[in-house]
Amino acid sequence: ALTIGIAGLPNVGKSTLFNALTRAQVLAANYPFATIEPNVGVVPLPDPRLTTLAEVFGSERILPATVSFVDIAGIVRGASEGEGLGNKFLANIREADAICQVTRAFADPDVVHVDGKVSPEDDIETINTELVLADLQTLEKTVPRLEKEVKIKKGDPALLAAAQGAQALLEEGTTLFSGAAKAGLDLDLLASLQLMTAKPFIYVFNTDDAGLADESFQTRLRELVAPAHAIFLDAKFESELVELEPDEAAEMLAETGQDEAGLDKLARVGFETLGLQTYLTAGPKEARAWTIHKGWTAPQAAGVIHTDFERGFIKAEVISFDDLVEAGSVAAARSAGKARIEGKDYVMRDGDVVEFRFNV
Ligand code: GDP
Repeated sequence: ALTIGIAGLPNVGKSTLFNALTRAQVLAANYPFATIEPNVGVVPLPDPRLTTLAEVFGSERILPATVSFVDIAGIVRGASEGEGLGNKFLANIREADAICQVTRAFADPDVVHVDGKVSPEDDIETINTELVLADLQTLEKTVPRLEKEVKIKKGDPALLAAAQGAQALLEEGTTLFSGAAKAGLDLDLLASLQLMTAKPFIYVFNTDDAGLADESFQTRLRELVAPAHAIFLDAKFESELVELEPDEAAEMLAETGQDEAGLDKLARVGFETLGLQTYLTAGPKEARAWTIHKGWTAPQAAGVIHTDFERGFIKAEVISFDDLVEAGSVAAARSAGKARIEGKDYVMRDGDVVEFRFNV
C-alpha cells in the first residue's frame, strides 16, 4: 500500500500526532486491519456515504478505505551530511510515497524548540534545505553518469534534460514539488531517481486555539507552501478527541469552531495527495469503499476485490451514489434508467456504486 511519511524537526508534535493516528486505528472497531506495525498507522478514510449506503442496503457493517502513515525518525540539521539519525531518516523518506511535514506553530514555554524560537517558516526552511541538499548530492552523481550514457547513445536524453532541470531548480533552493510546474519540469520523468523533494508534500501546522482561529496566519502559511496542502490542527487536542465517543467528539469539535477533526482532514488530504480514489459496493453484509488509483478502468477496479474479477471481467453495473440515494434502492434506480452498464474501457469515477459481472 502507498504510505505517507510523517517527518519534522524534534519536539514539534510528531509523536503526539502519530500516537493519535495509531489510537484511531486501534479504536476503529470492526476492521480487518493488517498486522499492526509499530511505526505504521493505518487509519480509516472518513466517508459519510458509507453510512447512507448501509442504511439503504441494511448492511451489517461498514468498511471504509484506509490511509497508511509511517513515523519517520526525527530530522536534524546536517542530515544530508549523515549527521545523527540523518542517513536512516533519508532512507525512510525515500521509501514514503508522500511526505507529511509537521511543523510547530504552538506557543508553549514548557516545550523547548530545537532552534530556540517558534517559527513555522524557519522550520520549513530548515527541513527543505536538508532535503534539497540530499537531492543535489544524488544528482551530482547521476547527471555525469547520464551524460556519459547519452554520449555513447545508451542513455535517455529526455531523462538527462529533466535531471539537469531538476538540478538547476534545486540549486536555487527550490523543492522539486513546489517548483516543477512553473519550470515546465515533468516529475514523472524523474521517478526512477527517487528524489525526495519530488514527492508530494502535505504540511501539518501543529497549532493551538489561537492559531486555529487566526485566518490571516493560516492564509500566509497556505500561500507559503502552495501547491502543497496545508492542514492546521492541534495535535494534543486531536489525541484527546480520538478517545471520545463519536457524538462527544462532534460536540467538542463544534465547541472549538471546527467542522472536521484534524485527523480526518489529514486522512482525506493524504488519500487525495497519494492520487487515490474510492468506489463503493454495498449489500446486506457490508457497505464498503475500495481503494483504486485515479484513472483506473473498471477491470482494474474489479481486480482490487479479487484478481479473478479482473481476469474474467464482463461488465459493471454502475449507479452514482447521488442517483442511488435519490432513487432509494437499486431496483428503483434501474427503473429510473440510472443504472449504467459499463464495459472494460470505463474509467471509474468517485462515488460510483458498483456491481461487477464476471466469468470464473
Ligand atoms: P516530536 O519530537 O516531534 O515527536 O514531538 P512530541 O509529540 O514528542 O511533542 C513534544 C512535546 O510537545 C511534548 O511534550 C508534547 O506534549 C508537546 N506537544 C505536542 N503537541 C502539542 C500541542 O499541540 N500543543 C502543546 N502545547 N504541546 C504539544
